[in-house]
Amino acid sequence: MADDMPTKILLSEDEQPTQWYNVIADLPTPPPPPLHPGTHEPAGPDDLAPLFPMALIEQEMTADRYIDIPGGVLDVYKLWRPSPLFRAHRLEALLDTPAKIFYKYEGVSPAGSHKPNTSVPQAFYNNAEGVTKLTTETGAGQWGSALAFATAQYGMECEVWQVAASYRAKPHRKTMMEIWGASVHSSPSELTEFGRGLLAENPDHPGSLGIAISEAVAMAVADPETRYALGSVLNHVLLHQTVIGEEALLQLAKVGVTPDVLVGCTGGGSNFGGLAFPFLREKLAGNMNPTIRCVEPAACPTLTKGEYRYDFGDTAGMTPLLKMHTLGHGFIPEPIHAGGLRYHGMSPLVSHVYNEGLVEAISIPQTECFAGAIQFARAEGIVPAPEPTHAIAAAIREAQAAKEAGEERVILTALCGHGHLDLASYENYLAGGLKDYDLPDEAIAAAMEAVPVLD
Ligand SMILES: *Cc1c(COP(=O)(O)O)cnc(C)c1O
Repeated sequence: MADDMPTKILLSEDEQPTQWYNVIADLPTPPPPPLHPGTHEPAGPDDLAPLFPMALIEQEMTADRYIDIPGGVLDVYKLWRPSPLFRAHRLEALLDTPAKIFYKYEGVSPAGSHKPNTSVPQAFYNNAEGVTKLTTETGAGQWGSALAFATAQYGMECEVWQVAASYRAKPHRKTMMEIWGASVHSSPSELTEFGRGLLAENPDHPGSLGIAISEAVAMAVADPETRYALGSVLNHVLLHQTVIGEEALLQLAKVGVTPDVLVGCTGGGSNFGGLAFPFLREKLAGNMNPTIRCVEPAACPTLTKGEYRYDFGDTAGMTPLLKMHTLGHGFIPEPIHAGGLRYHGMSPLVSHVYNEGLVEAISIPQTECFAGAIQFARAEGIVPAPEPTHAIAAAIREAQAAKEAGEERVILTALCGHGHLDLASYENYLAGGLKDYDLPDEAIAAAMEAVPVLD
């Protein structure tokens, strides 16, 4: 080993952060508000009330810098939080780099990803306001599992629309959701008008995240005791995820280092925002100066090739309009294995900080990501979920650049989930069957034509 720094940098339960951090309080300009889909006026709390409980609507709109984490949430967080920060000694040795690589490991949660950091408070606040059932969509199955776990903690019902292609390909995710008591439907489904229409056109419809969102939203608004839960994109989701970055700041302080570069994978932006925003606060305050970079798949390059426009969050056009980097709400990405990164939009907060030049973005093709993940797994042991293979590939690029420059740079990333239920993607990679997709500019231009022209 190059040095005697510990491999796992741990916090005790007493050191667990007790507040979430709201980056809006420290930004030079506030992000543009969501708009009502019909009137195109800023959406008020009443417009969101059929979907979310008031406590979450307040968190969605607040400018307060810190929000106390309720005791009833902290208790459940203790099942896996604080999560470990690893120093990747063995990966560094494999890469023969002078860089110090750190990864915050969120795969220790019951669902195997960072998503329970928000599913637990979302279930908590809904339960506190008398909501008995939550509906949601899931693509790769991570969010559906996380919500099924959280609703079970508070004795609530949970109904999940799983994108048909993933419903067929990932039966074990469905079983996991059912173990925690959720009911799971393939989307498009016969249960909504939108789903029935799509199935009439194509009984084998593969579905998409945008379609599944439309179905889960339609079912929630039809029942006064049911609300909807979203696993990424929205401000309150990114808020809850900041426990990742707050813990990482404390952990890095324990070993006396500050990051030179921070990389995170971005699907809807929640694990990235959760890791990056507390560090962005420190950067804006002049306490450190890391480069902060989003990493997205080359097949769904929302930030690097999308436009910063108001667009719908779902395919049917039922959600409020969000100002975000988008490839168009009708855009259906190629079937890359990182299902959690196949979303046409990007969180308004991540889009805003990117547009303000506070963070950077790159895209990486999936074969490079899986090659990096194999190196990582052989060195560090953990098999990453397909989504954070993008973060790992970017960290490896950084480590190689540090080697070329002969500099001891500190690299921080989030390993936001393990890949134990995604082994089919590795099987495909190891068999040489994985390919990269070209995304022609015309395909993006065609999808953008359906985006409303508002600004
Ligand atoms: C859902 C998911 C993602 C993508 O969502 P973000 O909001 O961008 O974090 C990435 N990785 C894992 C493991 C996921 O489950």
